[in-house]
This record gives sequence, C-alpha cells and structure tokens, in this order.
Amino acid sequence: MSLNLNRSLFETDPEIAQAIADETNRLSDGLEMIASENYASRAVMEAAGSVMTNKYAEGYPGRRYYGGCEFVDVAERLAIERAKQLLGAEHVNVQPHSGAQANLAVFLAVLKPGDTILGMDLAHGGHLTHGHPLNISGMYFNVVTYGVNRETERLDYDALAQLAEKHRPKLIICGASAYPRQIDFARIGEIGRSVGARVLADMAHIAGLVVTGEHPSPVGYVDFVTTTTHKTLRGPRGGLIACRAEDAKLIDRAVFPGVQGGPLMHIIAAKAVCFKEALEPSFVEYQRQVRKNAVALGEVLADAGFRLVTGGTDNHLLLVDVFTKGITGKAAEQALERAGITVNKNTIPFDTNPPLVGSGIRLGTPALTTRGMREQDLRYVGALIVEVLSDIDNTARQAVVRQKVRELTRDFPLYAQ
Ligand SMILES: *Cc1c(COP(=O)(O)O)cnc(C)c1O
Repeated sequence: MSLNLNRSLFETDPEIAQAIADETNRLSDGLEMIASENYASRAVMEAAGSVMTNKYAEGYPGRRYYGGCEFVDVAERLAIERAKQLLGAEHVNVQPHSGAQANLAVFLAVLKPGDTILGMDLAHGGHLTHGHPLNISGMYFNVVTYGVNRETERLDYDALAQLAEKHRPKLIICGASAYPRQIDFARIGEIGRSVGARVLADMAHIAGLVVTGEHPSPVGYVDFVTTTTHKTLRGPRGGLIACRAEDAKLIDRAVFPGVQGGPLMHIIAAKAVCFKEALEPSFVEYQRQVRKNAVALGEVLADAGFRLVTGGTDNHLLLVDVFTKGITGKAAEQALERAGITVNKNTIPFDTNPPLVGSGIRLGTPALTTRGMREQDLRYVGALIVEVLSDIDNTARQAVVRQKVRELTRDFPLYAQ
C-alpha cells in the first residue's frame, strides 16, 4: 500500500491537527512568561519541519557513515561556522538533541563513574542535570553542591572556592535556571584552574544575552560551554557544546557515538537559521529589550510590595517571593493561569515550602519581548499580575484580567494563521 505523502496533516490526523491549532491559539491569546520559553520564527520552524528529518547522518560533515549526506553537510557546516562566530569559540558541536544531552556528553568526555562534581544546588537556582539525585549526574557521580549567600541571595564565590579546595572535584558546573543575576564565569574558571578541575558553564537560559554582550561570556574562561538553542537564543529545541580546539575530538566522540546516534538534521538546519538570525543587529536590540522589560516588570511588582529575590534582576528573569504575601508559588501559578498568564512556581533559596509548592514564581520576558512588547507593556502586565495576586481566590477578578490579557495580546499578533 502506498502512502499518500502529500495528504495534509488535517486529512491524515485531524486530532493532532486540532491539538496544534489549539496550541497556536493558546500561544496567541495568552501571556507566556515562563523564563525558559520563547517563540521560534517561521523560518526556524520551516527548517525544523523540512525533509531533512528523513536523513541518517551519523558522524560529522565530510566523515559520515551514510551516503547522500552532501546537503545535510551544508546545513551542519553552516550551523557550526555560524555558532563559532556567534560564540567566539574555537570548536562547536551542534548535534546534542537537548541541553541535558549536551551536559551528559561533557560528563562522558571528562568523568568516570564515582568522580566528584561540584554543581549549583537546584534549590538555589541550579539545574537537575548539575547533580540532582534523580538525574544521571547525581546517580553516577559524587555530588557536592554550592549555592547562594543567605543574606544577599547571590552566588557565594568564596564558599565555592573553599568547597573546590576541600573536595577537589574533577568538574565544576556553573550556570542556572532560576538565578536573576550575572554569573562571574571568569572567577569560576579561575577557581577551577586553581584546584585542577575542568569547568563547564551551562548557559542554557542566558545564551541569547551572552552572544549579544548583554551578559559576560564564559567562552575563553572555562573549558566547556553548553547551552540549549530554544530559550533566549530563540531557535528550535536543541543543544550545543563549545570548547577549545584541543578538546574538539574528545567532545565530538562523546556526543557521537558516546551518547547519541543519528543527529536530527532538520533541527540542525533550524539551528543554523537561528544562529543567522542571532548574528543580525536586531537580535542585540531584542536582548537589550528583554532585560529592560524584566527591570520594568520587577519595578511594578516591588512597588506593590512583592519581594524580588536578590532585590532585582540583571537578566531576563525575576524570581518573586510571593510567600511574604501569604501565597504559595503553587497557588500563585494557578491563579495566574486562570487569568491567561503562564508562569511557573519555583522554590526560592532557603525555601521553607516543599518543591512542589514553593514560595516563589519565576517570571521571564523573552517570549513577550519577541511579540514586540516594551517597558510600558510590561508595566501593564505587572499591574495585571498584582491584580490577580492581591486576591487569588477571586475568580471573577481573574476572568476580568483574562479578558484584559486577550485584548492586550491582540495588539501583539503572533504567528499569522
Ligand atoms: C533548560 C536547561 C537545561 C536543559 O535543557 P533541555 O533542553 O530541557 O534538556 C540544562 N541546563 C540549564 C541550566 C537549563 O536551564
């Protein structure tokens, strides 16, 4: 039986077609404030939805285990060259399927089971893949964690240095998913060298800020840099690894055949498109606006009496302590969801609530900024958030805010349908 390759998604699978249409509407008429999310361009999605999904291309450009790779090689070479230019890196591997896979490949490259790693505590803003007991990083390695200072809520570099001195880790991991301040990658690189540890900077959240100079780059200061490509970088879901030329072979072998099989060539093509977009001057403007918007939003919330962890932000996100107002992160997330504002609950450093409840919410501005919103719009969004959180059981008020959200989003259309 021959498959009709040209039948539309709607004809082939109306249920999935409907789910996609519904998701498009959800994105379009709600406020997406999850700090790790963004909207990829139509060009990125076109590449991601292309015929390159069909191709097996194990290996690397010019050194494949399959024939017929001449055009996917074009895509991967472009992705690599653009990423190197964007990051100022000597070598880049664009094959990791995700941020977690990129980190796993670095672990395979430099660690043996049982080795000691020093990573930022998830409860202080780190990431699962940096040593959490339920992640392979926490199961296969001896994990020591560092965190933030109780008073300043900022990374405590002196304590980190002492832990490194005491435990002599093989690898120090820095980078965060819920930390609103700059990370001193140069300092951590120095600490690594002083104890003979390799250093991995996982800049998944802030990559867009880094490549536009809105956050100091770890490249040149640490051994390995990993990132996702779908957060502030605004590309397809995926990951990458940058390193020095001398570690290129080590990293490439760790990705394939170490932890992955065939690369996702359609996603690599989409990464190349993302990097091209990120090299344009407008991307610098975008990242600058992301930060300005986060500051504007933070001011409105602070004026309304909400405590911002660390007192503010240097990047694209805010961690808001809602428990000082008697609300849990979970309740705040749910109330905002009913009003069409998508955020996530989050623990705050030294949280007294369990992780599934949390004392905070994490708010990010990358997605709203992609829609074209600026400071005055974020101030308005901040006022809507305050309106909801000042009476979280008031469903009538949530319905009113839901309507205001719909009206606001109409002024910032997303994908044309
Ligand atoms: C998002 C994130 C990751 C994981 O990325 P996935 O693509 O979801 O695997 C890793 N590290 C940090 C710091 C992150 O924020």
